[in-house]
Amino acid sequence: MGTRVMLKVPLLDLKAQYQSIKNEVDQAVEEVLAEQQFILGPKVQECEDAIAVYSQSRFACGVSSGTDALLISLLNEEIGAGDEVITSAYSFFATAGSIARVGAKPVFVDIDPVTYNLDPEQLEENITSKTKAIIPVHLFGQMAEMGAIQKITQAHGLIVIEDAAQALGAEDGARRAGSIGHYGCLSFFPAKNLGGFGDGGMVLTNDEKRHERLKALRMHGARTKYNHDWLGGNFRLDALQAAIIRVKLKYLDLWIAKRNENAQTYNRLFEAAGLIGAAVTLPARVRDRHTFHQYVIRAINRNALARFLNEKGVGCEIYYPCPLPYQKCFSHLGHKKGAFPESEKAAEETLALPTYPELSEEQMEYVVKTIAEFYQSCAA
Ligand SMILES: *Cc1c(COP(=O)(O)O)cnc(C)c1O
Repeated sequence: MGTRVMLKVPLLDLKAQYQSIKNEVDQAVEEVLAEQQFILGPKVQECEDAIAVYSQSRFACGVSSGTDALLISLLNEEIGAGDEVITSAYSFFATAGSIARVGAKPVFVDIDPVTYNLDPEQLEENITSKTKAIIPVHLFGQMAEMGAIQKITQAHGLIVIEDAAQALGAEDGARRAGSIGHYGCLSFFPAKNLGGFGDGGMVLTNDEKRHERLKALRMHGARTKYNHDWLGGNFRLDALQAAIIRVKLKYLDLWIAKRNENAQTYNRLFEAAGLIGAAVTLPARVRDRHTFHQYVIRAINRNALARFLNEKGVGCEIYYPCPLPYQKCFSHLGHKKGAFPESEKAAEETLALPTYPELSEEQMEYVVKTIAEFYQSCAA
């Protein structure tokens, strides 16, 4: 076999993205530095207003992270000890961690194997007299089946907190992620589709009362200085992050379009390489607008493939190797292996490939060629 040039294809290339908008971002940062107003103020307000409009929500409250967005939403409903909150068994840890942090019990539901989102068919059987809320997750950038979920939550009078950390701009019908439930939680973690230069998050809501109280809770529950009506915390979004996010928001639609193009390019390349079915299963685009925060395939012999890709200079990641019910910190809940078969299968089979907007066609060709090479070497 002849030696081949090894292309470097990182999972994500934030330096390339920064270079493409450097002047504008630097100017926004310099404005904050000149003003020296770092805590809330006009930059945070402008960012909140812009994200609310973008997400088709009436209100937005900037907070310290996506995790804190979930936490503060639960606090706002006074959910705590003795309460149950239903969520997906297959997500980033924060989804379930925030439920446990307020003292409530996370109740897990298995996923739909096509979308990787909570299966609404299994929702009703998990509702008890203690159930207060449900947190559907729009995983990998595709929305959960909100219509079916809402039918059930409305019948039972449950609060809906959308975990839209991976799905800003995603759509189901004409509705945007985060605008449908009582709360929509966003994350500006740097690796998200709209990432800040550090941690940040936001809570969307259409209810003015809920919004007013969220704004107090992020400042230790004070509506006016030194008067604490509730027990909150310091959950504020930094003005610096808000200024950067506001600039980057202008490019989000372009980036989402690029991610969708990349997904189509991958689909075409996998098809041409004859890999579909036998070796890999491609991600399904079921809802109207997928943000392709991640392009996730299912792959035979996944762990060996991931190692092979890394050796060949291709970044890839397993989201998530262990379903939430089986995390050590939830062992007291007593979940036995086999109880969440689709989540377990996903944890064993899925692999996220680079899909960031700045990715070149040549890089994607290299990724698929390398995957084909792996399966040829398996067959040999
Ligand atoms: C990133 C993420 C979070 C947490 O956001 P942070 O800003 O990192 O705290 C929560 N849920 C999901 C599904 C995420 O992907």
